[in-house]
Parts: sequence; C-alpha cells; structure tokens
Amino acid sequence: MGTGYLIGCNKCVTDEDLKNAWGKESNIKENIFNIRIGGGMLCFCKEQLEKIYGINKKYNREYRLLAAGDPPEGIYKLIGSITEDINIDKIIYENISKGFEFTENLGHYPYYCENCKKLFDHFYFEMEKDNNIYTPKYMCKKCSYILEPTYPVWEEDNEIGFKNEEDEYEKINFKYKIYDENKVIKIKLKEEEKILLCEHCGNNQFTMMSQYFFD
Ligand SMILES: [Zn+2]
Ligand SMILES: [Zn+2]
Repeated sequence: MGTGYLIGCNKCVTDEDLKNAWGKESNIKENIFNIRIGGGMLCFCKEQLEKIYGINKKYNREYRLLAAGDPPEGIYKLIGSITEDINIDKIIYENISKGFEFTENLGHYPYYCENCKKLFDHFYFEMEKDNNIYTPKYMCKKCSYILEPTYPVWEEDNEIGFKNEEDEYEKINFKYKIYDENKVIKIKLKEEEKILLCEHCGNNQFTMMSQYFFD
C-alpha cells in the first residue's frame, strides 16, 4: 500500500547498518533515515482514520481495496493512534468535538528537521471545518524544532526512487520537495537547497539504498 525507503549516508553506512535499519528505532539512527510514503492497509483513507479515532458514521463509500474484504472493525480500536503523539491525538479529539472532519489528504511522508538536517517518518493528515484546515505539527525528537513534511518528486530515470503515483498527493502544498538527483537525495525549499547531515561522520550526501513495500 505504501513504499518505504532507506536513505543512507554514502560515506559511512555499512551492510550491517542497513540490516539493522528496520523497526521503529531506525527512525532516529545516525546515518540512515527510514521513511515511508503512502498509507498502510489500515489507514489509507479518511474513513479508516475516523474509525481509529472512534467516530461512528455510516459510510456511503466502498473504501476497501482488499480482495479479502474489510479488516475487522475491532482492529481500528487496537491501533488507537496513527500519530504516535499524545499531544496531536488530543488535538484530534478536540477538533472532532468542534466539528472538524478528516480530508482525503493523508499518508506517511518524510518530515524534515531544518535544525538537525534529518528526516523522520510521520503520518500527515488534514482536518477541515469552514475552510479552516488543521495539519499536525510534529516536533523533532532530538531538538524540538517543528518538522515540516516534504513532497516527494518522482524521477523517471532512476530505477530506485520516489514513486509518486497518486495525483492526490499533489493537492498538498508542502514546504519542501524531496527528490533523487544523480543518486544523491536533494531537499529544496523553493530554489534553496537544504542538506541532510550524517551525525556519525559529518558527511552531507545521502543516497537511496533500498526500497520496500509496507502494508
Ligand atoms: Zn531537530
Ligand atoms: Zn556518515
């Protein structure tokens, strides 16, 4: 349902580092960023977000994409949080009580810390009421700076690269663009280039090292 990427420092990453890059903690590794783009099987549309946050509604739309049918309802209660951030979850519940509704713009994106020059994986979503739009503000776990989501740009020539298959992502107006140029990951704020920094060796060139699917 979504694509994950391991983006590593092109000077110091070893095969061993890559092997150990899986799992949640890898999100704060020194020389590899494990990021995802898209939604998982249990959260790729707004109806599922509503279920996770306990909104009981009748659904007019068939949202399932799985041949096996919808996942059992009880699963959504077990998820409890898609943000893994209690402060943001609190705001979600407050927004729900004020009448805000989730929009179709949602999914995992790489979030950039302009202070640490690192990438983090977080879940983006929007809630809307009377043209007011709320989007989550994730804080950097290292420096508390507010992270900003990056918009992935698909490069056709690369075998391995960001795939941005769904046009709906283009509706989201993110601050940064992230893309792959001659095997180096670039982050730009308009024309201004931003760097990624390896905390392990100080290098600022990162490469996409592997790609995987997550569900
Ligand atoms: Zn930071
Ligand atoms: Zn390094």
